[in-house]
Amino acid sequence: MEKGKVYLVGAGPGDPKLITVRGLEALKRSDVIVFDRLAGPQLLNFAKPDAERIYVGKLPDRHTMKQEDINRLLVDLALQGKTVIRLKGGDPTVFGRVGEEADLLQKNGIIYEIIPGITSAISVPAYAGIPVTHRDMASSFSVITGHESPDKLDLSIYWDKVTNATGTLVFLMGVAKIAYISDQLIKHGRSPDTPVALVQWGTRAEQKTVVGTLSNIEERVKAANLKPPAVIVVGDVVRQRETLSWIEKKPLFGQRILITRARSQASDLLAKIDDLGGETYEYPVIEMKLPEKPEQLQEIEQALAQAEAYDWVMLTSVNGVEYFFRWLDRYGVDIRRFHKAKFAAVGPKTADALRDRGIRADLLPESFRAEGLLDSLDGVIAPGQLALLPRGDLARETLPKELKERGVRVVELDVYHTVLSAPKDLWLPEMLENGEIHVITFTSSSTVVNLMEALRQLGVSNPAEALRNVEIACIGPVTAQTAKEHGLTVTVVPEKYTIDGLVEALVDRRRMTKGD
Ligand code: SAH
Repeated sequence: MEKGKVYLVGAGPGDPKLITVRGLEALKRSDVIVFDRLAGPQLLNFAKPDAERIYVGKLPDRHTMKQEDINRLLVDLALQGKTVIRLKGGDPTVFGRVGEEADLLQKNGIIYEIIPGITSAISVPAYAGIPVTHRDMASSFSVITGHESPDKLDLSIYWDKVTNATGTLVFLMGVAKIAYISDQLIKHGRSPDTPVALVQWGTRAEQKTVVGTLSNIEERVKAANLKPPAVIVVGDVVRQRETLSWIEKKPLFGQRILITRARSQASDLLAKIDDLGGETYEYPVIEMKLPEKPEQLQEIEQALAQAEAYDWVMLTSVNGVEYFFRWLDRYGVDIRRFHKAKFAAVGPKTADALRDRGIRADLLPESFRAEGLLDSLDGVIAPGQLALLPRGDLARETLPKELKERGVRVVELDVYHTVLSAPKDLWLPEMLENGEIHVITFTSSSTVVNLMEALRQLGVSNPAEALRNVEIACIGPVTAQTAKEHGLTVTVVPEKYTIDGLVEALVDRRRMTKGD
């Protein structure tokens, strides 16, 4: 069998967007992903859906896998002919033991690549507003291991040399030994007033910074109950934080927000939250599928075959538009065959989707719900007319019902089905339990129903209980009603039932709960 290949890749400090383009390419093409805790789980969304995911970090009932076993695992997988990615936090060559992994691969004649990553040593301070060098304050920096275990005093550090060798000192794995580190530095000649910062979980929603001086930092770390992982920065550069702190000032900073919409529809919401400093956690629970049963296909084909007969085509969602056109293409129906029909579009996004395809809607109901469409139909649509309603299988019944009551002949067409997409990311229950998800956004009733079902499938017996401490944000009253029916306490419903409205409401809610 041909041997596989191993990519030893730096995943960056935590924010999944801080992986390199080359690293991302390797991730997308790998058959197996070997990762640990510092390489964020959200990166796994980029993997091939059927890629095998092997977690080698700590679990409640298991220690971190031994380094020798990881080395062996990489070799074995490659010998099976697989393309393997070993994702490591930060940069793989900075306290990442990549040398040992590469060594054994080399000995076994396996091809590998080392793809650098953004090390936490510089990026974590940067996210706290601390550039590690400065024209006037520090013209060099050192990255030093502090070794997390408090009983293991590292004798390989020459404190006399390290203390004064460079301007800025950056310690990784040093939280538990902060007292020892500051003592050594003072003992070897640094002023007790030297500024120090500890940045915990930098670039993630949990990012927290404690600032002090060599003489008082231990106390402050204790008072703040700061835990690993954190980067320690020692030197005058720390002062820049007073003016340069940036991400912490954004309105959604510190919030990890779960996005439940279908991946294909989530980009707008993701980008807006990201821009406001929130951390997005994609967890798509719905997926759109084309109907497949012969009788369904026949129904669609027949409905489209009489394109010339319709007086109206009414679209109520972007998906409706998207899938309607897919079917037209599939059955070779040119849109111009609907020459008699007027088009109605509910909501500005639906109208935009139509316009992208060269059609300007004749009717744009004011309200975003089907009821608004009905008011605007008065005097426009006449009894006896024929209307086509291409939509999803879960669409609400209000529109066709009321149209029929007005004597309109209605052809309802399921152009797509909404199904539960079983998430590959198994971390959600644990994150909920640890309070690591702060907000969940629901953009339709089906996202509510499916998230509850997904949680049940992941072994959560009482999903409403698991979501008790999470802010529940719904795009509008219908979705909110569904959430309530499922036992959730809805805390955010925007005045305008759009993505922009939802994002604004999230910011308002954050301001309110933060008390400013
Ligand atoms: N190869 C990694 C470092 C591995 S050692 C890199 O280049 O970043 C692990 C240590 O890195 C942790 O103990 C902590 O000091 C630091 N670290 C990694 N990610 C971090 C983060 N997001 N926030 C704070 N510290 C981090």
